[in-house]
Amino acid sequence: MEATLSAKPHFVVIPWPTTSHIIPIVDIGCLLALHGAAVTILTTPASAQLVQSRVDRVGAQGDSAGIEVTVIPYPSVEAGLPEGCERLDHVPAPDMVPCFFDATTRFGDAVATHCRLMASPRRPSCIIAGMCNTWASGIARELGVPCYIFQGFSAFALLCCEYLHTHKPHEAVASLDELFDVPVLPPFECKFARRQLPLQFLPSCSIGEESLQELREFELAVDGIVVNSFEELEHDSAARLAAATGKTVLAVGPVSLCHAPALDVSDDATRCMAWLDAKKAKSVLYVSFGSAGRMPPAQLMDLGMALVSCPWPVLWVIKGADSLPDDAKKWLQENTDADGVADSQCLAVRGWAPQVPILSHPAVAGFMTHCGWGSTLESVAAGVPMAAWPFTAEQFLNEKLIVNVLGIGVSVGVTKPTEGVLTGGSGGAKAEVGMEQVKTALEKLMDGGAEGEDRIRKVQELKAKAKAALENGGSSCMNLDKLVQSVV
Ligand code: UDP
Repeated sequence: MEATLSAKPHFVVIPWPTTSHIIPIVDIGCLLALHGAAVTILTTPASAQLVQSRVDRVGAQGDSAGIEVTVIPYPSVEAGLPEGCERLDHVPAPDMVPCFFDATTRFGDAVATHCRLMASPRRPSCIIAGMCNTWASGIARELGVPCYIFQGFSAFALLCCEYLHTHKPHEAVASLDELFDVPVLPPFECKFARRQLPLQFLPSCSIGEESLQELREFELAVDGIVVNSFEELEHDSAARLAAATGKTVLAVGPVSLCHAPALDVSDDATRCMAWLDAKKAKSVLYVSFGSAGRMPPAQLMDLGMALVSCPWPVLWVIKGADSLPDDAKKWLQENTDADGVADSQCLAVRGWAPQVPILSHPAVAGFMTHCGWGSTLESVAAGVPMAAWPFTAEQFLNEKLIVNVLGIGVSVGVTKPTEGVLTGGSGGAKAEVGMEQVKTALEKLMDGGAEGEDRIRKVQELKAKAKAALENGGSSCMNLDKLVQSVV
Protein backbone atom coordinates (compact mmCIF):
# COMPACT_ATOMS: atom_id res chain seq x y z
CA MET A 1 0.00 0.00 0.00
CA GLU A 2 2.77 2.42 0.98
CA ALA A 3 4.66 1.64 -2.19
CA THR A 4 1.57 2.27 -4.33
CA LEU A 5 0.84 5.56 -2.62
CA SER A 6 4.40 6.78 -2.91
CA ALA A 7 4.40 5.94 -6.60
CA LYS A 8 1.31 8.08 -7.14
CA PRO A 9 1.63 11.81 -7.73
CA HIS A 10 -0.02 13.59 -4.82
CA PHE A 11 -2.23 16.62 -5.49
CA VAL A 12 -3.10 18.93 -2.63
CA VAL A 13 -6.38 20.67 -3.47
CA ILE A 14 -7.21 23.83 -1.53
CA PRO A 15 -10.68 25.24 -2.28
CA TRP A 16 -11.37 28.96 -1.97
CA PRO A 17 -14.01 28.76 0.72
CA THR A 18 -17.22 29.70 -1.00
CA THR A 19 -19.87 27.12 -1.88
CA SER A 20 -19.79 27.49 -5.65
CA HIS A 21 -15.98 27.12 -5.69
CA ILE A 22 -15.84 24.21 -3.31
CA ILE A 23 -18.22 22.17 -5.49
CA PRO A 24 -16.18 22.17 -8.74
CA ILE A 25 -12.68 22.12 -7.22
CA VAL A 26 -13.57 19.07 -5.11
CA ASP A 27 -14.88 17.45 -8.28
CA ILE A 28 -11.52 18.20 -9.91
CA GLY A 29 -9.89 16.39 -6.98
CA CYS A 30 -12.25 13.46 -7.54
CA LEU A 31 -11.38 13.35 -11.25
CA LEU A 32 -7.66 13.39 -10.49
CA ALA A 33 -8.16 10.41 -8.15
CA LEU A 34 -10.10 8.61 -10.87
CA HIS A 35 -7.07 9.26 -13.10
CA GLY A 36 -4.72 7.54 -10.68
CA ALA A 37 -3.48 10.38 -8.45
CA ALA A 38 -3.44 10.52 -4.66
CA VAL A 39 -5.42 13.59 -3.58
CA THR A 40 -5.65 15.48 -0.31
CA ILE A 41 -8.40 18.09 -0.07
CA LEU A 42 -7.76 20.68 2.62
CA THR A 43 -10.94 22.16 3.99
CA THR A 44 -12.43 23.83 7.06
CA PRO A 45 -14.71 22.34 9.74
CA ALA A 46 -17.89 23.97 8.41
CA SER A 47 -17.28 22.75 4.85
CA ALA A 48 -16.04 19.25 5.68
CA GLN A 49 -19.41 17.63 5.17
CA LEU A 50 -19.96 19.28 1.77
CA VAL A 51 -16.51 18.11 0.65
CA GLN A 52 -16.85 14.60 2.07
CA SER A 53 -20.29 14.08 0.54
CA ARG A 54 -18.89 14.73 -2.95
CA VAL A 55 -15.87 12.51 -2.33
CA ASP A 56 -18.18 9.74 -1.10
CA ARG A 57 -20.17 9.87 -4.33
CA VAL A 58 -17.02 9.05 -6.26
CA GLY A 59 -16.43 6.25 -3.75
CA ALA A 60 -19.74 4.81 -4.86
CA GLN A 61 -18.23 4.52 -8.37
CA GLY A 62 -15.32 2.50 -7.04
CA ASP A 63 -12.31 4.70 -6.32
CA SER A 64 -12.22 7.31 -3.62
CA ALA A 65 -9.36 5.36 -2.03
CA GLY A 66 -6.93 7.95 -3.28
CA ILE A 67 -8.72 10.91 -1.68
CA GLU A 68 -8.16 12.13 1.84
CA VAL A 69 -10.16 15.02 3.31
CA THR A 70 -8.17 16.96 5.90
CA VAL A 71 -9.84 19.55 8.11
CA ILE A 72 -7.87 22.60 9.25
CA PRO A 73 -9.50 25.08 11.67
CA TYR A 74 -10.58 28.36 10.05
CA PRO A 75 -9.82 31.49 12.08
CA SER A 76 -13.22 33.20 11.70
CA VAL A 77 -13.42 34.71 15.18
CA GLU A 78 -9.77 35.85 15.19
CA ALA A 79 -10.50 37.79 11.98
CA GLY A 80 -13.67 39.41 13.34
CA LEU A 81 -16.23 37.10 11.72
CA PRO A 82 -19.01 35.27 13.55
CA GLU A 83 -18.05 31.83 14.80
CA GLY A 84 -18.54 29.17 12.13
CA CYS A 85 -18.55 31.72 9.29
CA GLU A 86 -16.18 29.84 7.01
CA ARG A 87 -17.52 30.53 3.53
CA LEU A 88 -17.73 33.82 1.67
CA ASP A 89 -21.39 33.22 0.84
CA HIS A 90 -22.09 32.91 4.59
CA VAL A 91 -20.60 36.32 5.46
CA PRO A 92 -23.53 38.23 7.00
CA ALA A 93 -22.75 41.74 5.65
CA PRO A 94 -20.71 43.15 2.74
CA ASP A 95 -18.56 45.27 5.08
CA MET A 96 -17.26 42.02 6.60
CA VAL A 97 -15.75 40.84 3.29
CA PRO A 98 -12.30 42.28 4.19
CA CYS A 99 -12.45 40.24 7.45
CA PHE A 100 -13.02 37.17 5.31
CA PHE A 101 -9.90 37.92 3.28
CA ASP A 102 -8.01 38.42 6.54
CA ALA A 103 -9.25 35.04 7.84
CA THR A 104 -8.16 33.40 4.59
CA THR A 105 -4.65 34.86 4.95
CA ARG A 106 -4.40 33.41 8.46
CA PHE A 107 -5.79 30.11 7.19
CA GLY A 108 -2.93 30.13 4.66
CA ASP A 109 -0.40 30.10 7.51
CA ALA A 110 -2.03 27.00 8.97
CA VAL A 111 -2.11 25.35 5.54
CA ALA A 112 1.60 26.12 5.04
CA THR A 113 2.47 24.49 8.39
CA HIS A 114 0.37 21.46 7.50
CA CYS A 115 1.95 21.07 4.05
CA ARG A 116 5.49 21.31 5.49
CA LEU A 117 4.66 18.44 7.83
CA MET A 118 3.26 16.17 5.11
CA ALA A 119 5.87 13.45 4.84
CA SER A 120 6.43 10.66 2.36
CA PRO A 121 4.40 8.94 0.91
CA ARG A 122 1.97 11.86 1.18
CA ARG A 123 4.45 14.57 0.30
CA PRO A 124 2.73 17.01 -2.09
CA SER A 125 3.75 16.84 -5.72
CA CYS A 126 1.40 19.60 -6.95
CA ILE A 127 -0.93 22.17 -5.42
CA ILE A 128 -4.25 23.21 -6.98
CA ALA A 129 -5.63 26.26 -5.22
CA GLY A 130 -8.80 28.33 -5.42
CA MET A 131 -8.47 31.84 -6.84
CA CYS A 132 -8.16 33.83 -3.60
CA ASN A 133 -5.78 31.45 -1.80
CA THR A 134 -2.96 33.69 -2.91
CA TRP A 135 -0.43 32.20 -0.44
CA ALA A 136 -0.59 28.84 -2.24
CA SER A 137 2.09 29.72 -4.81
CA GLY A 138 4.52 30.56 -1.98
CA ILE A 139 3.87 27.20 -0.32
CA ALA A 140 4.36 25.40 -3.63
CA ARG A 141 7.62 27.26 -4.25
CA GLU A 142 8.89 26.36 -0.80
CA LEU A 143 8.06 22.69 -1.42
CA GLY A 144 9.53 22.83 -4.93
CA VAL A 145 6.30 21.69 -6.62
CA PRO A 146 4.06 23.24 -9.31
CA CYS A 147 1.04 25.33 -8.41
CA TYR A 148 -2.14 25.53 -10.50
CA ILE A 149 -4.90 28.06 -9.96
CA PHE A 150 -8.60 27.26 -10.26
CA GLN A 151 -10.66 30.43 -10.65
CA GLY A 152 -14.02 28.85 -11.44
CA PHE A 153 -14.39 31.12 -14.49
CA SER A 154 -14.91 30.09 -18.10
CA ALA A 155 -11.78 30.14 -20.27
CA PHE A 156 -13.51 32.85 -22.31
CA ALA A 157 -14.02 35.05 -19.23
CA LEU A 158 -10.40 34.51 -18.18
CA LEU A 159 -9.29 35.43 -21.68
CA CYS A 160 -11.36 38.64 -21.52
CA CYS A 161 -9.82 39.44 -18.10
CA GLU A 162 -6.33 38.91 -19.45
CA TYR A 163 -7.11 41.29 -22.32
CA LEU A 164 -8.46 43.87 -19.86
CA HIS A 165 -5.35 43.60 -17.67
CA THR A 166 -3.07 44.03 -20.67
CA HIS A 167 -4.88 46.61 -22.81
CA LYS A 168 -7.07 48.39 -20.21
CA PRO A 169 -9.80 49.51 -22.66
CA HIS A 170 -12.13 50.11 -19.68
CA GLU A 171 -9.85 52.92 -18.46
CA ALA A 172 -10.26 54.86 -21.70
CA VAL A 173 -14.06 55.20 -21.63
CA ALA A 174 -15.86 58.32 -20.48
CA SER A 175 -18.61 56.57 -18.52
CA LEU A 176 -19.52 53.28 -16.89
CA ASP A 177 -22.10 52.72 -19.64
CA GLU A 178 -20.01 53.39 -22.74
CA LEU A 179 -19.49 50.20 -24.71
CA PHE A 180 -16.01 49.15 -25.80
CA ASP A 181 -14.53 46.18 -27.66
CA VAL A 182 -12.88 43.19 -26.07
CA PRO A 183 -11.81 41.54 -29.33
CA VAL A 184 -10.57 38.21 -27.94
CA LEU A 185 -12.57 35.84 -30.10
CA PRO A 186 -12.87 37.12 -33.67
CA PRO A 187 -15.11 37.13 -35.66
CA PHE A 188 -17.48 37.40 -32.68
CA GLU A 189 -18.12 40.93 -31.55
CA CYS A 190 -17.66 41.29 -27.79
CA LYS A 191 -18.63 44.69 -26.44
CA PHE A 192 -19.06 45.50 -22.78
CA ALA A 193 -19.69 48.49 -20.56
CA ARG A 194 -17.30 48.98 -17.66
CA ARG A 195 -20.03 48.39 -15.09
CA GLN A 196 -20.54 44.88 -16.53
CA LEU A 197 -16.97 43.77 -15.83
CA PRO A 198 -15.67 41.63 -12.96
CA LEU A 199 -15.09 43.56 -9.72
CA GLN A 200 -11.37 44.14 -10.18
CA PHE A 201 -12.03 46.28 -13.25
CA LEU A 202 -14.55 48.60 -11.60
CA PRO A 203 -13.42 52.03 -10.37
CA SER A 204 -13.87 50.90 -6.76
CA CYS A 205 -14.69 47.59 -5.16
CA SER A 206 -15.29 46.12 -1.72
CA ILE A 207 -12.22 43.87 -1.87
CA GLY A 208 -9.67 46.69 -1.58
CA GLU A 209 -6.64 47.63 -3.72
CA GLU A 210 -4.12 45.61 -1.75
CA SER A 211 -6.09 42.36 -1.97
CA LEU A 212 -6.72 42.94 -5.70
CA GLN A 213 -3.00 43.38 -6.24
CA GLU A 214 -2.33 40.13 -4.37
CA LEU A 215 -4.89 38.30 -6.50
CA ARG A 216 -3.20 39.46 -9.68
CA GLU A 217 0.25 38.57 -8.37
CA PHE A 218 -1.02 35.10 -7.57
CA GLU A 219 -2.38 34.71 -11.12
CA LEU A 220 1.00 35.72 -12.50
CA ALA A 221 2.95 33.47 -10.10
CA VAL A 222 1.20 30.15 -10.81
CA ASP A 223 2.50 27.56 -13.24
CA GLY A 224 -0.83 26.79 -14.81
CA ILE A 225 -4.57 27.26 -14.90
CA VAL A 226 -7.17 24.52 -14.50
CA VAL A 227 -10.52 25.34 -16.07
CA ASN A 228 -13.89 23.69 -15.54
CA SER A 229 -14.73 23.53 -19.23
CA PHE A 230 -13.95 21.42 -22.27
CA GLU A 231 -11.92 22.36 -25.31
CA GLU A 232 -14.75 21.89 -27.80
CA LEU A 233 -16.96 24.42 -25.99
CA GLU A 234 -15.31 27.82 -26.00
CA HIS A 235 -13.91 28.32 -29.50
CA ASP A 236 -10.25 27.86 -28.58
CA SER A 237 -10.46 30.18 -25.58
CA ALA A 238 -8.26 27.84 -23.51
CA ALA A 239 -5.53 27.76 -26.16
CA ARG A 240 -5.78 31.53 -26.63
CA LEU A 241 -5.54 31.99 -22.87
CA ALA A 242 -2.42 29.83 -22.81
CA ALA A 243 -0.91 31.99 -25.56
CA ALA A 244 -1.89 35.23 -23.80
CA THR A 245 -0.57 34.19 -20.37
CA GLY A 246 2.32 31.91 -21.35
CA LYS A 247 0.92 29.33 -18.90
CA THR A 248 -0.33 25.79 -19.23
CA VAL A 249 -4.13 25.89 -19.43
CA LEU A 250 -5.98 22.62 -18.93
CA ALA A 251 -9.73 22.29 -19.47
CA VAL A 252 -10.84 19.25 -17.48
CA GLY A 253 -14.63 19.48 -17.36
CA PRO A 254 -17.53 19.56 -17.15
CA VAL A 255 -16.51 18.35 -13.70
CA SER A 256 -20.11 17.84 -12.54
CA LEU A 257 -20.16 14.80 -14.84
CA CYS A 258 -17.75 12.96 -12.56
CA HIS A 259 -20.75 11.92 -10.45
CA ALA A 260 -23.97 10.29 -11.46
CA PRO A 261 -26.51 13.06 -10.63
CA ALA A 262 -27.06 11.84 -7.07
CA LEU A 263 -29.70 13.44 -4.90
CA ASP A 264 -29.01 15.09 -1.58
CA VAL A 265 -31.50 13.62 0.83
CA SER A 266 -33.07 16.87 1.94
CA ASP A 267 -36.78 17.66 2.03
CA ASP A 268 -36.29 20.35 -0.62
CA ALA A 269 -34.55 17.91 -2.95
CA THR A 270 -37.22 15.25 -2.56
CA ARG A 271 -39.99 17.82 -3.08
CA CYS A 272 -38.41 19.22 -6.24
CA MET A 273 -37.92 15.87 -7.86
CA ALA A 274 -41.42 14.58 -6.98
CA TRP A 275 -42.92 17.80 -8.39
CA LEU A 276 -40.86 17.44 -11.61
CA ASP A 277 -41.89 13.79 -11.94
CA ALA A 278 -45.51 14.94 -12.20
CA LYS A 279 -44.78 17.28 -15.12
CA LYS A 280 -44.80 16.58 -18.88
CA ALA A 281 -41.49 16.06 -20.71
CA LYS A 282 -39.81 19.32 -21.78
CA SER A 283 -42.46 21.53 -20.18
CA VAL A 284 -40.77 23.12 -17.14
CA LEU A 285 -38.89 26.38 -16.77
CA TYR A 286 -36.20 26.21 -14.06
CA VAL A 287 -35.21 29.56 -12.50
CA SER A 288 -32.21 29.92 -10.21
CA PHE A 289 -29.49 32.50 -9.63
CA GLY A 290 -26.68 30.52 -8.07
CA SER A 291 -25.61 29.66 -4.57
CA ALA A 292 -26.26 33.09 -3.06
CA GLY A 293 -27.69 35.50 -5.64
CA ARG A 294 -30.48 37.72 -4.38
CA MET A 295 -32.51 40.39 -6.14
CA PRO A 296 -33.80 43.61 -4.67
CA PRO A 297 -37.44 43.02 -3.64
CA ALA A 298 -38.90 45.24 -6.41
CA GLN A 299 -37.04 43.24 -9.06
CA LEU A 300 -37.99 39.96 -7.45
CA MET A 301 -41.67 40.93 -7.63
CA ASP A 302 -41.51 41.86 -11.32
CA LEU A 303 -39.80 38.57 -12.06
CA GLY A 304 -42.34 36.73 -9.89
CA MET A 305 -45.30 38.27 -11.70
CA ALA A 306 -43.85 37.18 -15.04
CA LEU A 307 -43.24 33.67 -13.73
CA VAL A 308 -46.70 33.08 -12.29
CA SER A 309 -48.40 34.41 -15.43
CA CYS A 310 -46.43 32.32 -17.93
CA PRO A 311 -47.99 29.17 -19.40
CA TRP A 312 -45.18 26.80 -18.32
CA PRO A 313 -44.77 25.15 -14.93
CA VAL A 314 -41.95 26.95 -13.10
CA LEU A 315 -39.47 25.69 -10.52
CA TRP A 316 -38.10 28.85 -8.91
CA VAL A 317 -35.23 28.82 -6.40
CA ILE A 318 -35.19 31.92 -4.18
CA LYS A 319 -32.24 32.76 -1.94
CA GLY A 320 -32.68 35.07 1.05
CA ALA A 321 -36.47 34.75 1.09
CA ASP A 322 -36.50 35.09 4.89
CA SER A 323 -35.10 38.60 4.74
CA LEU A 324 -37.58 39.91 2.16
CA PRO A 325 -39.96 42.68 3.25
CA ASP A 326 -43.35 41.50 4.48
CA ASP A 327 -45.30 42.48 1.34
CA ALA A 328 -42.95 40.43 -0.88
CA LYS A 329 -43.16 37.47 1.53
CA LYS A 330 -46.96 37.68 1.50
CA TRP A 331 -47.04 37.85 -2.30
CA LEU A 332 -44.84 34.76 -2.56
CA GLN A 333 -46.98 32.91 -0.09
CA GLU A 334 -50.18 33.73 -1.96
CA ASN A 335 -48.88 33.18 -5.50
CA THR A 336 -46.42 30.30 -5.33
CA ASP A 337 -46.37 26.83 -3.88
CA ALA A 338 -43.80 25.99 -1.23
CA ASP A 339 -44.92 22.42 -0.57
CA GLY A 340 -44.54 20.81 -3.98
CA VAL A 341 -48.19 20.01 -4.59
CA ALA A 342 -48.08 17.87 -7.73
CA ASP A 343 -50.40 20.01 -9.86
CA SER A 344 -49.13 23.45 -8.80
CA GLN A 345 -47.77 25.71 -11.54
CA CYS A 346 -45.01 27.53 -9.64
CA LEU A 347 -42.95 25.71 -7.04
CA ALA A 348 -40.81 28.14 -5.03
CA VAL A 349 -37.84 26.54 -3.27
CA ARG A 350 -36.45 28.72 -0.51
CA GLY A 351 -33.47 26.53 0.39
CA TRP A 352 -30.94 24.55 -1.60
CA ALA A 353 -32.20 22.93 -4.79
CA PRO A 354 -30.54 19.83 -6.31
CA GLN A 355 -29.55 21.73 -9.46
CA VAL A 356 -27.65 19.06 -11.39
CA PRO A 357 -30.43 16.44 -11.04
CA ILE A 358 -33.05 19.12 -11.84
CA LEU A 359 -31.29 20.16 -15.05
CA SER A 360 -31.01 16.55 -16.19
CA HIS A 361 -34.66 15.77 -15.41
CA PRO A 362 -36.62 15.06 -18.63
CA ALA A 363 -39.33 17.58 -17.65
CA VAL A 364 -36.97 20.58 -17.78
CA ALA A 365 -37.03 22.61 -21.02
CA GLY A 366 -35.28 25.87 -20.13
CA PHE A 367 -33.14 27.49 -17.44
CA MET A 368 -33.23 31.14 -16.43
CA THR A 369 -29.78 31.66 -14.92
CA HIS A 370 -27.51 34.39 -13.56
CA CYS A 371 -24.80 32.95 -15.85
CA GLY A 372 -22.51 31.82 -13.05
CA TRP A 373 -20.05 29.52 -14.76
CA GLY A 374 -20.97 26.48 -12.67
CA SER A 375 -24.63 26.83 -13.61
CA THR A 376 -23.85 27.60 -17.24
CA LEU A 377 -21.73 24.51 -17.68
CA GLU A 378 -24.22 22.31 -15.82
CA SER A 379 -26.89 23.53 -18.23
CA VAL A 380 -24.68 22.75 -21.23
CA ALA A 381 -23.90 19.30 -19.83
CA ALA A 382 -27.63 18.65 -19.48
CA GLY A 383 -28.46 20.05 -22.94
CA VAL A 384 -30.80 22.77 -21.59
CA PRO A 385 -31.01 26.22 -23.32
CA MET A 386 -30.78 29.30 -21.11
CA ALA A 387 -32.28 32.73 -20.53
CA ALA A 388 -29.37 34.89 -19.39
CA TRP A 389 -29.86 37.26 -16.46
CA PRO A 390 -26.33 38.16 -15.33
CA PHE A 391 -25.97 39.59 -11.83
CA THR A 392 -22.31 40.48 -11.26
CA ALA A 393 -18.66 39.33 -11.40
CA GLU A 394 -17.83 37.72 -14.76
CA GLN A 395 -21.45 36.83 -15.51
CA PHE A 396 -21.94 39.47 -18.23
CA LEU A 397 -18.96 37.92 -20.04
CA ASN A 398 -20.55 34.47 -19.77
CA GLU A 399 -23.82 35.88 -21.11
CA LYS A 400 -21.95 36.96 -24.24
CA LEU A 401 -20.57 33.45 -24.63
CA ILE A 402 -23.99 31.82 -24.12
CA VAL A 403 -25.99 34.14 -26.37
CA ASN A 404 -23.69 35.56 -29.03
CA VAL A 405 -20.87 33.04 -29.38
CA LEU A 406 -22.58 29.70 -28.72
CA GLY A 407 -26.17 30.61 -29.64
CA ILE A 408 -27.61 28.46 -26.85
CA GLY A 409 -29.48 31.12 -24.93
CA VAL A 410 -31.48 34.33 -25.06
CA SER A 411 -30.64 37.52 -23.25
CA VAL A 412 -33.16 38.92 -20.79
CA GLY A 413 -31.60 42.31 -21.55
CA VAL A 414 -30.09 43.23 -18.19
CA THR A 415 -27.50 45.99 -18.63
CA LYS A 416 -26.48 46.77 -15.04
CA PRO A 417 -25.22 44.56 -12.24
CA THR A 418 -27.75 43.65 -9.56
CA GLU A 419 -27.47 45.72 -6.43
CA GLY A 420 -26.65 43.85 -3.22
CA VAL A 421 -26.30 40.37 -4.72
CA LEU A 422 -25.41 38.86 -1.35
CA THR A 423 -27.70 41.01 0.77
CA GLY A 424 -30.76 41.55 -1.45
CA GLY A 425 -30.04 45.27 -1.95
CA SER A 426 -31.94 48.12 -0.47
CA GLY A 427 -35.72 47.85 -0.35
CA GLY A 428 -36.01 50.93 -2.58
CA ALA A 429 -33.83 49.73 -5.48
CA LYS A 430 -35.94 49.86 -8.65
CA ALA A 431 -36.39 46.91 -10.98
CA GLU A 432 -34.27 47.24 -14.12
CA VAL A 433 -36.25 44.57 -15.95
CA GLY A 434 -40.02 44.85 -16.04
CA MET A 435 -42.49 41.97 -16.09
CA GLU A 436 -43.19 42.31 -19.83
CA GLN A 437 -39.50 42.21 -20.71
CA VAL A 438 -39.07 39.00 -18.68
CA LYS A 439 -42.07 37.44 -20.39
CA THR A 440 -40.72 38.29 -23.85
CA ALA A 441 -37.41 36.60 -23.06
CA LEU A 442 -39.15 33.54 -21.64
CA GLU A 443 -41.38 33.20 -24.69
CA LYS A 444 -38.28 33.21 -26.88
CA LEU A 445 -36.60 30.63 -24.66
CA MET A 446 -39.51 28.25 -24.24
CA ASP A 447 -41.38 28.75 -27.50
CA GLY A 448 -38.91 30.32 -29.86
CA GLY A 449 -39.95 28.74 -33.19
CA ALA A 450 -37.14 27.99 -35.64
CA GLU A 451 -34.63 30.02 -33.62
CA GLY A 452 -35.63 28.14 -30.49
CA GLU A 453 -35.19 24.81 -32.29
CA ASP A 454 -31.76 25.94 -33.41
CA ARG A 455 -30.75 26.78 -29.82
CA ILE A 456 -31.93 23.37 -28.66
CA ARG A 457 -30.04 21.61 -31.45
CA LYS A 458 -26.84 23.49 -30.60
CA VAL A 459 -27.03 22.84 -26.86
CA GLN A 460 -27.81 19.16 -27.47
CA GLU A 461 -24.73 18.89 -29.68
CA LEU A 462 -22.66 20.48 -26.92
CA LYS A 463 -24.15 18.08 -24.37
CA ALA A 464 -22.87 15.15 -26.44
CA LYS A 465 -19.44 16.80 -26.79
CA ALA A 466 -19.32 17.48 -23.04
CA LYS A 467 -19.89 13.82 -22.26
CA ALA A 468 -17.36 12.71 -24.87
CA ALA A 469 -14.74 15.11 -23.48
CA LEU A 470 -14.55 13.14 -20.23
CA GLU A 471 -14.68 9.70 -21.81
CA ASN A 472 -11.56 7.74 -22.75
CA GLY A 473 -9.66 9.62 -25.44
CA GLY A 474 -11.73 12.80 -24.91
CA SER A 475 -10.05 16.19 -24.52
CA SER A 476 -10.74 16.66 -20.81
CA CYS A 477 -9.81 13.05 -20.08
CA MET A 478 -6.48 13.56 -21.86
CA ASN A 479 -5.87 16.86 -20.05
CA LEU A 480 -6.42 15.12 -16.70
CA ASP A 481 -3.93 12.43 -17.69
CA LYS A 482 -1.51 15.13 -18.81
CA LEU A 483 -1.82 16.88 -15.45
CA VAL A 484 -1.31 13.68 -13.45
CA GLN A 485 1.62 12.59 -15.59
CA SER A 486 3.26 16.01 -15.57
CA VAL A 487 4.02 15.74 -11.87
CA VAL A 488 5.14 12.10 -11.67
N1 UDP B 1 -26.43 25.20 -6.63
C1 UDP B 1 -27.25 24.18 -6.24
N2 UDP B 1 -28.44 24.47 -5.63
C2 UDP B 1 -28.86 25.74 -5.41
C3 UDP B 1 -28.02 26.80 -5.84
C4 UDP B 1 -26.82 26.51 -6.45
O1 UDP B 1 -26.91 23.00 -6.42
O2 UDP B 1 -29.95 25.94 -4.86
C5 UDP B 1 -25.11 24.89 -7.21
C6 UDP B 1 -25.10 24.86 -8.73
O3 UDP B 1 -25.43 23.59 -9.20
C7 UDP B 1 -23.67 25.28 -9.05
C8 UDP B 1 -23.32 26.22 -7.91
O4 UDP B 1 -24.21 25.93 -6.85
O5 UDP B 1 -22.81 24.15 -9.00
C9 UDP B 1 -23.46 27.67 -8.30
O6 UDP B 1 -22.35 28.05 -9.02
P1 UDP B 1 -22.36 29.20 -10.10
O7 UDP B 1 -20.95 29.31 -10.61
O8 UDP B 1 -23.39 28.98 -11.11
O9 UDP B 1 -22.82 30.50 -9.33
P2 UDP B 1 -22.38 31.27 -8.00
O10 UDP B 1 -23.04 30.60 -6.87
O11 UDP B 1 -20.88 31.24 -7.94
O12 UDP B 1 -22.90 32.65 -8.23
